[in-house]
Amino acid sequence: MTTSLAIIGRDDRFAVRRIYCVGRNYAAHVREMNEGADPRDPPFFFQKPTDALVETGATVPYPPMTDDLQFEVELVAAITTGGRDIAVETALDHVGFYAIGIDLTRRDLQFRAREKGWPWEMGKSFDRSAPIGPLSAAGDVGHDTRAITLSVDGDMRQNSKTDHMIWSVAEIVANLSRQYRLMPGDLIMTGTPEGVGALRVGQRIEARADGLTPLSITIGDPE
Ligand code: MN
Repeated sequence: MTTSLAIIGRDDRFAVRRIYCVGRNYAAHVREMNEGADPRDPPFFFQKPTDALVETGATVPYPPMTDDLQFEVELVAAITTGGRDIAVETALDHVGFYAIGIDLTRRDLQFRAREKGWPWEMGKSFDRSAPIGPLSAAGDVGHDTRAITLSVDGDMRQNSKTDHMIWSVAEIVANLSRQYRLMPGDLIMTGTPEGVGALRVGQRIEARADGLTPLSITIGDPE
């Protein structure tokens, strides 16, 4: 199981320490989930296990205990300089790389947990739930707004822009650094826009973001 990611244009790899994820970060997605949340509620976070990471080209077996595996395309920011209580104004200095990722979700288990007030782990943090593409240096691709898209078997299903985020990458880094000491190797999945949906065995998913290397995975038979 890999715990590192390829870096475009470099021979060395990025050693992954933690995978943080942001919930409810695009207003249109908050609405489609019927969560009734105030969009300016502070960002909230959950984690996926580091060994849940999957690289591009992989086949991900349809996971157990669900009938509703769903895709969520997300911009991924990689921390290369650690810190705590980071200011919004300097937060992007801590982000050395970007990638595109998919927050694979067992939606039925997530919703059951939500109803019962249980933790989200069973819905979000299962094996191979974190496909993430190769990293590109922020110095090469910049920190500016980019389009992010996800297609299933060639049909565009999600199509948004990162400036539709409720909380920007800089605001997310600043907020998270008040709750945890961020360290080099931390990845942050920054939330998904609207258009999420279910996946079936045999489908091929492609996630893209302007300037970044695409990520593609295929859903395989259950193990
Ligand atoms: Mn998500």
